[in-house]
Amino acid sequence: MKTRRDFLKMSAMGAMLPAMNSMPHSAANSPIVISTWNFGLAANVEAWKVLSANGRALDAVEAGARVPEGDPNETSVGLGGLPDRDGKVTLDACIMDENGNCGSVAFVQGIVHPISVARAVMEKTPHVMLVGEGAERFAFANGFKKEKLLTPKSEQAWKEWLKTAKYKPIINVENHDTIGIVALDVSGNLSGACTTSGLAYKMHGRVGDSPIIGAGMYVDNEIGAAAATGMGEEVIKIVGCHLVVELMRQGNSPKDACRLAVERIAKKNPERAKEIQVGFLAVNKTGDYGAFCLQKGFNYAVHDKSGNKLIDSGYYFS
Ligand code: ASP
Repeated sequence: MKTRRDFLKMSAMGAMLPAMNSMPHSAANSPIVISTWNFGLAANVEAWKVLSANGRALDAVEAGARVPEGDPNETSVGLGGLPDRDGKVTLDACIMDENGNCGSVAFVQGIVHPISVARAVMEKTPHVMLVGEGAERFAFANGFKKEKLLTPKSEQAWKEWLKTAKYKPIINVENHDTIGIVALDVSGNLSGACTTSGLAYKMHGRVGDSPIIGAGMYVDNEIGAAAATGMGEEVIKIVGCHLVVELMRQGNSPKDACRLAVERIAKKNPERAKEIQVGFLAVNKTGDYGAFCLQKGFNYAVHDKSGNKLIDSGYYFS
């Protein structure tokens, strides 16, 4: 049986491995933020303002997540998100800090920044998760405004969809996408956030992985943080982001941890896996980062002191 000392030794060895098989980070205690998809670039800019001013990773990920939430042209997050099959925009979000505190909202309507409601749940209630009408009532009582989220563009897309009303998962950016954002601050603390309008034309009431702590996002300040995007049902089934963090704890680099989680999805149901996208990104305690996904097409944005760049993720089905 492995002793705690063996385990710590293994973890320490693991911490050296990322340099070989992951993106090494430029310097210890140098902040970094990583987020999903192209819109991560703009999100990172806001997050970086916080990190570069020696701010807290938690504030950085919230600031970053709010960018696509507030952008009416992003059709997969917040304002302008594509609706469910009943024409309702329903949002999911969660946030987690360096102390393991977390907050989450699911199936909320009429609020542009569910990530900030999730943070309020974390900071102002004894609970982790509020859903639906209860979450909305809590938000309005805490100063969030009720707003219309269905933009003319999203309404038009929904009306087009209604003509055939076929529900088929689409692999990359066309029909879904979540912003998952993780950051390491100058104090060496990690936080993460995740926010989405979920799969377009989902059943009314459907909740994906994004607001589920451990599935859509997870932070363990001793080890690392991870976020997910793609078909949430498959991410929930393997408790994806918790798995990625635990794989890093076992000594895997962030990229390998993401790859092993993706492989688990692919091996459990190979036929299904061919038709969907799932992507994970991760950062470890020393700021090394990586990502992996099922299908070509997932990219992620990384901002550190050398700048902000978009990177294509490695993928399983080559
Ligand atoms: N993971 C999100 C969900 O299943 C959607 C996405 O990232 O595309 O709701």
